[in-house]
Amino acid sequence: MKFELPPLPYAPQALEPVISANTISFHHGKHHLAYVNNLNNLIPGTRFENSTLEQIILEAEGGIFNNAAQVWNHTFYWEGLGGKGGAPTGKLLQMINDAFGSFDQFKVLFADAAVKQFGSGWAWLVVDAAGKLVITATSNAGNPLREGLKPIFTCDVWEHAYYLDFQNRRPDYVKAFWDIVNWEKVAERL
Ligand code: MN
Repeated sequence: MKFELPPLPYAPQALEPVISANTISFHHGKHHLAYVNNLNNLIPGTRFENSTLEQIILEAEGGIFNNAAQVWNHTFYWEGLGGKGGAPTGKLLQMINDAFGSFDQFKVLFADAAVKQFGSGWAWLVVDAAGKLVITATSNAGNPLREGLKPIFTCDVWEHAYYLDFQNRRPDYVKAFWDIVNWEKVAERL
C-alpha cells in the first residue's frame, strides 16, 4: 500500500493570522510530506506492506511507527482546524462540561497539557473506554490509539508547528489556536 499526503481541507491562508501560509507551506508541504515519503520507503518488504495506517500505528515500533503516527497525527490536526473557533455545542459541549466543569476550564487544562509537554509532542482530547472525555499529551509521534483511547482533537506542539509565527512562544500559539478550531469536525468524531 502506498500512502499519500492528504490535501489540506482549506486554502493555505485559511488559518491566518494564527497559522501563516508560510508555516503551512513547511508544515504540510515539507514535514507532513516527509513523514509520508519516509513511511513509503520503510514499509516495502516488511509485514506492514499491506496494512492500513491505523494497523501500523497499533502494531509497529521504531521508524515505521514514528512516521505512520506522524502521518495520521498531522492529517487529524489539519482536519480539526479551519473553523471559526468559539465554543462547541450540543453533546460535545455537554461532555466537556461533565468532564471538566466548563468549556473555559477545559481550555485552561488543555492549554496546560500543550504548554507543559516537554519537547516535541501533541496534546489530545480523547474519549476513554468508559466514554468520558480526557485530556492527554504524548511525546514525539505518540498516538492515544495505542492506549485504546479514541482521539477527537489534537494540538501539535512540535516547534515546527509554531516557530515561524511565534518563535519560542508556545503559550501564545496555544492561546491563539482556539480561534481556528473546527468544533463541528471535532463533534463529528464522537
Ligand atoms: Mn507537526
